[in-house]
Amino acid sequence: MKNRNIMYRIGIGYDLHRLVEGRNLIIGGVNIPHHKGLLGHSDADVLIHAIIDAILGALALGDIGTHFPDSDPQYKDIDSKILLSHTLNLVKKHGWKIINIDSTIIAEKPKLKPFINDIRTVLSRLLEIPIDCVSVKAKTNEGVGPEGKEEAISCYVVALLSQCDNT
Ligand code: MG
Repeated sequence: MKNRNIMYRIGIGYDLHRLVEGRNLIIGGVNIPHHKGLLGHSDADVLIHAIIDAILGALALGDIGTHFPDSDPQYKDIDSKILLSHTLNLVKKHGWKIINIDSTIIAEKPKLKPFINDIRTVLSRLLEIPIDCVSVKAKTNEGVGPEGKEEAISCYVVALLSQCDNT
């Protein structure tokens, strides 16, 4: 991490969770009204999980499972916003900061457009970056594949980090 020739690092994150009855749908820290939610050991926030993997990937620090194993009972049903805060602390500890993130959520239903700005607001606060550095896009999968058949929601994220000034 001390290579002074490298000022920027980029990372990619991906996640997918199954959509099931009887769970809340939480995406980007926002509770979205829907008759199904995402299944997982934590709150299954697919967007935040992909963000965490993008950030950890940029710093080559492993992945979400390395830091927050789903075999650990302390992470059962945990609010993924807490995991993202831990991840940001790790970023700072290593002398880096987040510049921006871009994301694409793939969900046939529900329509996420009405919630995009709420999600961006939450992520902006958690990542400690301006809202215009937080891009959240949503699209359908044209009815094909697990996302298209409403069996799952997936998400792709890229994150750009830069070194903090050591002045
Ligand atoms: Mg996940």
